[in-house]
Amino acid sequence: MNCLHCQTSASRVIESRDLEGGSVIRRRRECNDCQQRFTTYERVESAQLVIIKKDGNRQAFSRHKLAAGLYRALEKRPVAQSKIESLINQIEQSLKSMGEAEVPSSQVGEEVMKGLLGLDQVAYIRFASVYRRFDDIESFAQELRKIRRKQ
Ligand SMILES: [Zn+2]
Repeated sequence: MNCLHCQTSASRVIESRDLEGGSVIRRRRECNDCQQRFTTYERVESAQLVIIKKDGNRQAFSRHKLAAGLYRALEKRPVAQSKIESLINQIEQSLKSMGEAEVPSSQVGEEVMKGLLGLDQVAYIRFASVYRRFDDIESFAQELRKIRRKQ
């Protein structure tokens, strides 16, 4: 791990701390050369998750894309960023814990819908209207009734 400041590769660890229930280790390091301190994060690499799209194409799961979709749905909604981030973590965890290397995109959509429903109903409807592509007012109304029942 090269020093951030002088690129020297030799450094010593001055502090280690477990984060996220032990799945991440944060290390404070001190450069042997310039004595500046920097931080590194170490995480176990889990098997790459592949998403099967509707047209059958396969694509590596992208946390970034998932987050972008959620932030779009939650734009200008009164939801704390920490809650959004923990929902993203939760969805990613739940997809990975299915133990499948390949997951259909519809499964991702369902997980997002489920998460949004518990977080913010307006965001849920926004996401659902794109994801489910309501063809008519009736299917939209049906979705609304579903939310009401869950309340
Ligand atoms: Zn250095």
